[in-house]
This record gives sequence, structure tokens and C-alpha cells, in this order.
Amino acid sequence: MRQIAYDRASSVDDALRAGAQPAAAFLAGGTSLVDLMKLEVLNPARVVDVTRLDLSRIDPSTEGIRLGATATNAAVAAHPEVKRRFPVLSEALLSGASPQLRNMATVAGNLMQRTRCAYYRDLATRCNKREPASGCDALQGWTRMHAILGGSEHCIAAHPSDMCVALAALGATIHVRGPRGERDIPFADFHLLPGDHPEREFALDPGELVTSVFVPATPAAARSRYVKVRDRLSYAFALASCAACLAIEGGRIADARIALGGVGTKPWRSPEAERALAGQSPSPEAFHRAADLALRDARTRRDNAFKVELAKRTIVRALALVAEGA
Ligand code: SF4
Repeated sequence: MRQIAYDRASSVDDALRAGAQPAAAFLAGGTSLVDLMKLEVLNPARVVDVTRLDLSRIDPSTEGIRLGATATNAAVAAHPEVKRRFPVLSEALLSGASPQLRNMATVAGNLMQRTRCAYYRDLATRCNKREPASGCDALQGWTRMHAILGGSEHCIAAHPSDMCVALAALGATIHVRGPRGERDIPFADFHLLPGDHPEREFALDPGELVTSVFVPATPAAARSRYVKVRDRLSYAFALASCAACLAIEGGRIADARIALGGVGTKPWRSPEAERALAGQSPSPEAFHRAADLALRDARTRRDNAFKVELAKRTIVRALALVAEGA
């Protein structure tokens, strides 16, 4: 049986030292990593347990809110300041997984959760993300759950997170610490497109640890909704989802943020749709125009062409809910 080294870090410095060892992985809630280790999809030589670190605080300020890396999804979703000032984030979190999983899953773990592509999790198939340059059996396979935006000839896996869609729309920043110090990563740069290297998923250097996520407070953030369409109401990944935020001044849209889930290879923000909405009166026509632009570059495969229309309708619905203030 393969031996896996285990460290229980008592400080961030401890965690960074252990995390600098070859093939180390940080462990928090374990809801993604442990599953994938059981399947032998991820095979770290060392697991560094960060659950004892003082990283679970949720700190609101006038500028926004800072979410500790090990704050649970349940704690963030239920926090009164999140519900009041960032409703899209609370709704996105509550639409994901199950109550039991949300009690364990953490902010940083959610940021780094892996795709649910069935081929990725099946060692009997070819997968460039699991084993670089081995091929991709999804391309000619069952693609109903796969991405229609941001794919490459090497990978079309959809990003699975709901929380990340909300954070993309909210323009969050990810704070990390590593062997070379601390830095902030804009949310849009954190998840990488598959391109020629689907195995590279995050803009993290080796040994870097996410310590917190900062979400800026804006009028649009306070007027925001998350709409998720899926095969069943509980515990299912999105076929299409939309995080929509609107600031409306004098009957016109002053600021629009749109991000999509279930359809992109990363949490998919749409600057085209946002630009189209700026300065418009909130109306079904404006919302449909924005939705068309958001899906303009969609590339479908055999089983997922339905996602184009589904995603458009999801955007229109989310924008209508925000505009109504419902
Ligand atoms: Fe692997 Fe990506 Fe292909 Fe899925 S779509 S089998 S994750 S390379």
C-alpha cells in the first residue's frame, strides 16, 4: 500500500514549510481532495492539514468583506453581512452541494475544487487533465455536462463551482502566501483556461497557500442574484447558472456584472454583456441582447448544444430578478 505523509500544521509558517515538500497538498474540509485520493485521481505524497490554522474568520469592513480560507461554505452563506451586502454569494453557496458538505467545505477548497468531468474521475479513460498529453476521451464522448465556452482541443471540462461564479461577478481578490512572500491574485486570473495544458488549473506557484478572499462592497454587489438550472433541485451541478449584479441610478444601469457557471471551463465573466447593459434602461430587450453577446463565442459538441439557449434564458431570468428587486 502507498504511504502518504501527514502533517498537521499549527501555524501558516508550518504549513508553508510542509507544503514546500515535493508533491504536497493542503487539506481543509477534504470534500474534494479526499474523494479524488480515494479514486487515485490525485496522489499527493504528503497531505498538510490546515484546519487548525486561524484562517476561518469572516471580517466585514466598509470596503467589503474578507473571507478566511478555511471559513466553511455554510458559515459564509449564513453570515448576515454576506446576505445583506452580497446576496449573490450567499445564494450561490446555498445552491451548491448538500448541507452536510457545506458544513465541511471551505472557501479555499471551493476555489480549488476539480472538475466533475466523468472521464477525469475514471482511470480507465484518457484525460489530459489527469495525465498530461494522454488524450481526452470526452471530446468524442458524452458531453452533456461539458463546457461550451473557453474549451480547447485538449479539454472541455466545465468548472463545477457555484461560489466561484458569484466571486467572479463580484470582482474578488485572492490573497496567498508562499515561499516568496504574500501576494494578491485578481479573481479573473486565478483559474486558468485549459489551452495546451489542462493539467495546470490555478495561477498558484508551488507551495503557495490561499489565506483569504476579499470581496469589495459595491452598489451592484448589494443588488445581486444567483440563478442555477440543474437536473434536480438539490445536490446537482449546474447545467447553466448566472450571477448577476446591477447598480441602477435614475432608471439606467450604472454598473452591471455578469458571470456564468456550468458552461465555461472556468467561472465565466462576460465583459461583453456587461458593456452592453451599461447605460441602458433595465428591460427584457436589453437583457436578451446581453445574453446573446455572452454566448456569442459558444462552441458546442454533440450533447451540449442545448446549453446555449439555456444559458441565455438563465441570464435573462437572473437580470430580471435583480431589476425587480425580487
Ligand atoms: Fe480530461 Fe478535460 Fe478531457 Fe475531461 S474534458 S477527459 S477533464 S481532458
